[in-house]
Amino acid sequence: MSIPRRVLVIGGGASGSAITILLRRAGIAVDLIEARPDWNATTGSGITLQGNALRVLRELGVWEQVEASGFAYGSLGVTAPDGTLLFVKEDMRTGGEDLPATLGLRRPQLQQILIDAVRATGADVRLGTTAETLEQDADGVSVRFGDGTEGRYDLVVAADGVGSATRAAIGISETPEPVGMAIWRAPAPRPEGVTRTDLTFGGPAYIAGYTPTGGDTIYAYVVEANRDRKSIDPATYADEMRRLAERYGGAWPEISKHITDPAQVNYTGFDRLLVEGSWHRGRVVLIGDAAHCCPPTFAQGAAMSLEDASVLAELLTGGRDWDGELLQAYYERRIPRVRTVVEASVQLCRWQLDGVHDADVPGLIGRTMTVVKELP
Ligand SMILES: Cc1cc2nc3c(=O)[nH]c(=O)nc-3n(C[C@H](O)[C@H](O)[C@H](O)COP(=O)(O)OP(=O)(O)OC[C@H]3O[C@@H](n4cnc5c(N)ncnc54)[C@H](O)[C@@H]3O)c2cc1C
Repeated sequence: MSIPRRVLVIGGGASGSAITILLRRAGIAVDLIEARPDWNATTGSGITLQGNALRVLRELGVWEQVEASGFAYGSLGVTAPDGTLLFVKEDMRTGGEDLPATLGLRRPQLQQILIDAVRATGADVRLGTTAETLEQDADGVSVRFGDGTEGRYDLVVAADGVGSATRAAIGISETPEPVGMAIWRAPAPRPEGVTRTDLTFGGPAYIAGYTPTGGDTIYAYVVEANRDRKSIDPATYADEMRRLAERYGGAWPEISKHITDPAQVNYTGFDRLLVEGSWHRGRVVLIGDAAHCCPPTFAQGAAMSLEDASVLAELLTGGRDWDGELLQAYYERRIPRVRTVVEASVQLCRWQLDGVHDADVPGLIGRTMTVVKELP
């Protein structure tokens, strides 16, 4: 049987960019289509990357850029609402001893690093483009794009995120479910002395925290009960977030002063999704948030998405036939680890929503991070 050689990647986020880079490195032709004309290069405040995410970024060849742009650290502080430091916990180095435990980075910066790396591979990138129809037969997938053009592929990788249109198009009916919480996020200048993530559980909101994303920047976040998004006027986003943030002490008064521009404030609900059984139909396979997503309580969503790309690329470039057996092997390898992360991330939310005060949070964190420390 001849080895298929042409892949369509739908979506240019972390997972789509990662698999494009890895497949191109193996000499496979890749077309990447991305719905957003700006390729998401200017949106978002910050992201927290654990060691296991950094391990994949190193595999992609972008670790030096990530390290130079971000802010690495190795512990987590827990504070009372008034800012009193309650305790500091060392973060586990889930990517191995030669990588930091954690690194904060501005989201647009991460996206730009991945965009540059994808461009350097020579992949055929088309922005502002979606796949309108996918028709499969025994040998491949025929794709009609939004602009009327067509392509023929041996494999389609659906990396189009939590709202994946491709997932629905191939008949996978699972959809994301709200967890009952939502998060306000905003970038701000880094107050002197903020050198790691500090979290407060309780107070006016469920969680308030901040993470350095570079020498001069942080992103701050406040988690509250989910509200009907439509009931909140985007023009009031900064006021809404500041109203919650102003009631915390410590570094918060300084941070709150900079939460003034509603366009810089993002409000997002927490969702849970775990597609069960398999992540492919024929020659179309899901990776990243298209297959699974979780609240960011463990900051593992992008890490799991990057790992999907790494594992799938390893299998696709390992000399095996690209058949259902290989795609099922990809699912079987990923599902126990991803399930652990999704369930633990949701569990942390449930304990807070249910007001459980004696939950074994350190135990859950320890068990989960021990799993993700293993190679994927
Ligand atoms: C509030 C919040 C905070 C988070 N914080 C963290 C964190 O700190 N650390 C962490 O590791 N993870 C975090 N995550 C999770 C992380 O953002 C995701 O897991 C990760 O972005 C998933 O990457 P992806 O490439 O699979 O999907 P996405 O990043 O969503 O990328 C999908 C891409 O596909 C494009 N697209 C969509 N539809 C189409 C289409 N039909 N055709 C073509 N292109 C399309 C989109 O424009 C986008 O560029 C957080 C998530 C949320 C909601």
